[in-house]
Amino acid sequence: MCKIRDNGIILKKKVYAIGLLSGGLDSMLAVKLLLEQGIEVTGISFMTPFFGPKMANKAAEKLGIELIVKDITERHLEIVKNPPHGYGKTMNPCIDCHALMVNIAGQIMDEQGVDFIFTGEVLNERPMSQNRRSLDVVAEMSGYKEYLVRPLSAKLLEQTKPEKEGLLNRGLLMDIQGRSRKLQFELAAKYGIEEYPNPAGGCLLTDKNFSLRLKDLFQHNPDPVLRDLNLLKVGRHIRLNEKSKLIVGRNEQENREIEKSFSAADILLSAEHIPGPVCLLLGEKLESLVERAAHVCAAYSDAEEGQSCQIRLKKNQFEEEIKVIAAKADKQ
Ligand code: SF4
Repeated sequence: MCKIRDNGIILKKKVYAIGLLSGGLDSMLAVKLLLEQGIEVTGISFMTPFFGPKMANKAAEKLGIELIVKDITERHLEIVKNPPHGYGKTMNPCIDCHALMVNIAGQIMDEQGVDFIFTGEVLNERPMSQNRRSLDVVAEMSGYKEYLVRPLSAKLLEQTKPEKEGLLNRGLLMDIQGRSRKLQFELAAKYGIEEYPNPAGGCLLTDKNFSLRLKDLFQHNPDPVLRDLNLLKVGRHIRLNEKSKLIVGRNEQENREIEKSFSAADILLSAEHIPGPVCLLLGEKLESLVERAAHVCAAYSDAEEGQSCQIRLKKNQFEEEIKVIAAKADKQ
């Protein structure tokens, strides 16, 4: 804690920090390390169609700190479409995503007179996004390099401005590195943190199947709107041609979500044999495509193979029915 002199009286200057709080163990430990030094900590968490603040809210509550939540959909989507530093194993642009988040935290730091920013990053914990070069790139790109503290690996990294100025005690920060999380688990036990989710567990961009869908969407629609992105989270996705796709509900809840997403530009299909899927045809509405969609809908319904099946089609305000013969579907 910094001490300043004012008219001969020694005053303790309160130090404020704002940090990226994912709700994972590393970010919680980073908060704890700073709270232990008497620093006033605020967390910041972000919202996009790919992740939300649910885990961070829980963590902030447990840690007893304030949490700011920012919707960064627009800026983040540009990065997901075209990440300057590329993707990780799936469609996760972690380096650029982190840089964006630190930049936003930095803007809040400037606006609110906070002293520094921190993250729960650990040197070499993730081979691509947390090696020394990546940490440097994130710091540089964020525009707040001098003010970015990584409490869990601080002793292995260059000293930051707040450390040099004595706003926080570098000696009390950590020198954790590598993929083993042994030291983090020991710290968690010390601080009584018993529940924490998997690292990156909350980000759909690290999910292989979701990433395949997203890639397909970008290939066929370079400027998707929020609805296109939200629909990627629901149902089976079957591409019918370059311009059309069918989404097939896999359970009651997905059927309801698909129904809610229906717009005048789509066709909604449902089979008379229930339980069965609700399907959404997006894109072209050629007769041949509608027929194919109806066959898929029947195949995923409870109709027996070879049985005649009535399919209801909802188009804008109108409804009609067509009959198809149910075929076998791979219902895995
Ligand atoms: S896992 Fe997702 S939220 Fe986290 S840095 Fe990577 S892209 Fe961003």
